[in-house]
Amino acid sequence: MTSPKRTRRLSRSDVDAIFGAFSAANPEPKGELDYVNPFTLLVAVVLSAQATDVGVNKATGPLFAIADTPEKMVALGLETIEAHIRTIGLFRTKARNVLALSERLIAEFGSEVPQTREALESLPGVGRKTANVVLNIAFGQPTIAVDTHLFRVGNRTGLAPGKTPLAVELGLEKIVPDRYRRHAHHWLILHGRYVCKARKPECWHCLIAEWCRFEPKTPPPKGTLPLEGDLPGEEP
Ligand code: SF4
Repeated sequence: MTSPKRTRRLSRSDVDAIFGAFSAANPEPKGELDYVNPFTLLVAVVLSAQATDVGVNKATGPLFAIADTPEKMVALGLETIEAHIRTIGLFRTKARNVLALSERLIAEFGSEVPQTREALESLPGVGRKTANVVLNIAFGQPTIAVDTHLFRVGNRTGLAPGKTPLAVELGLEKIVPDRYRRHAHHWLILHGRYVCKARKPECWHCLIAEWCRFEPKTPPPKGTLPLEGDLPGEEP
């Protein structure tokens, strides 16, 4: 019932309408990871792999209160970093990466977070997605980081169908109008997290339903009153 029957790409005017709707509803979307500077953002994103933002924030609050620079993080040492993040999955590997990337920042980048994808990807535990998040949020670059939510939404909607995260990222880069590029990542991740959910997309109150290629749209659960913005023609 919720499998896509059509995945053809959207027209440019449909894409424009979709991002216009996102922009009107939420002009300044924000990420949900807590951070106080580019370094702590980088650490938070590294820790967020296969973990929830809420879970990461719980751990990083106390950690960043005592270590908000690479020097302070290195001074903590591996065991203390592990102790702070042990509620996060894969914490041993992530603690090693946080320590190693802090050491590299000190040794090679003057203790600053670099502002190129290539340099970021050279750091331990940092892949293309993490680099794109940091470039976008910390430095305002119009990058689009494709995580599981963006991958799903890009394919379902017809915005940027692709078999790999990179294919979806490049597809989005081609089609998202420049004026919406800066916030596209946030709009799509929030949309995937709260509306276009993995198991059951909530099409009945989706603000981009009229342009989305996913069919059939998921109707509201029985007994649910129609919400504003329900699908055209949907019976209450
Ligand atoms: S209508 Fe909205 S919630 Fe449903 S599949 Fe499309 S984008 Fe996702």
